[in-house]
Amino acid sequence: MRRLLAIFGATVWLVVSLAAQSGSSGALVLVNGNIIDGRGGAPLPGGTIVIIDGRITAVSAGRVGIPEGAKTIDLGGRWVLPGMVDAHTHIADLAAARAALASGVTTARNLGINHFIDIGIRELNRRGASDLPDMLSAGYHIYPVPREGIFLDFPQLGDLMAGGLRGVDAVRRAARAQIGRGVDVIKINATDRAGTVTTDPRRQLYSEEEMAAIVAEARKAGIRVAAHAHGDEGAFAAVRAGVDSIEHGTYLSRQTLKLMKERGTWLVPTLATMAEMLEPRNDVALQIRGRHMVPRLRETTALAIKMGIKIAAGTDTDYGTTSNFRLANEMIELVRAGMSPIEAISAGTARSAECLGIEGRTGKLWPGLEADLVVVDLNPLERLEDLLDPLLVINNGRIAVDRLSGR
Ligand SMILES: [Zn+2]
Repeated sequence: MRRLLAIFGATVWLVVSLAAQSGSSGALVLVNGNIIDGRGGAPLPGGTIVIIDGRITAVSAGRVGIPEGAKTIDLGGRWVLPGMVDAHTHIADLAAARAALASGVTTARNLGINHFIDIGIRELNRRGASDLPDMLSAGYHIYPVPREGIFLDFPQLGDLMAGGLRGVDAVRRAARAQIGRGVDVIKINATDRAGTVTTDPRRQLYSEEEMAAIVAEARKAGIRVAAHAHGDEGAFAAVRAGVDSIEHGTYLSRQTLKLMKERGTWLVPTLATMAEMLEPRNDVALQIRGRHMVPRLRETTALAIKMGIKIAAGTDTDYGTTSNFRLANEMIELVRAGMSPIEAISAGTARSAECLGIEGRTGKLWPGLEADLVVVDLNPLERLEDLLDPLLVINNGRIAVDRLSGR
């Protein structure tokens, strides 16, 4: 009985809070905000955004028709931009997912985690958990020596435990198993990892043939492939195999960048996380590696920007309790590499959504899209740091973070 009462109480609270979220007409209207819509144009001053049933129905400069009975929030000249889309995360639990959302990330592409935690988060979000970001899930990354969890989730791959995910047949089976589990994207390691001292990030791990087999499976399922690659040979093979994005890309040659430009392959440089390698709290071997890699990645990214290669912002962080940087830091790095502030914001919103293939859903403040948006105090075009601590985060039309009204 006590449990029943508790459930009943929670239901009443939910209904009450829903009514408070949007007015009696179900509409939520933001007025008097300077709008950066994510499409790269000039901000719309004193603008209005109308949200009905979780979607944006109008975006306009100045004050325009407000539906009767709508709940209205006066932004007092603050700045509104699309909810951020982090193209590369490793979120491992609900607390981290909430931390990502609190930082203004309304969509994250999770590129490698155990036990399909990211699919669980995605499904909770889609069932109305507005305190969690939407998520594109890669499940396990495909690596020759994979996380052992993959064999717990897929005992049918148990015969590969000794030899690892090596060879066309093995990687194809791993990709099929993950697709069967409902992943949104396949993540593969074209080269080895940078963040562990025992691995050489320049070393190619998969052949073009192995990666092409994975890409073929992904295409059949209508999903994309993201390839972790630092070394140039592995990256070149991955691009030739048809992957959709190169993650990191530290040592990319001009030849590989040219091929990426021709093929429309995305680059997600994750500069901010690579710069973390320099931190004194890391093992000295990693700090030394960072001094080698970080300047190279900055040069590669600057060249990619000059060549007009498509670039999306990703943190490569887990948003856990020791994660001390956010997507805004990646935007700051992209400006340092040659983007304008508006381009860097697009790289973390509209462009990033495009990289994930969800540009018809989110990433811009535009009628018909999901109402995912962030409000900050100062003009982020002058101070990208302002994006580090948003005042208001709206997720699928629901207020997820509100530091504006003092609640
Ligand atoms: Zn990663």
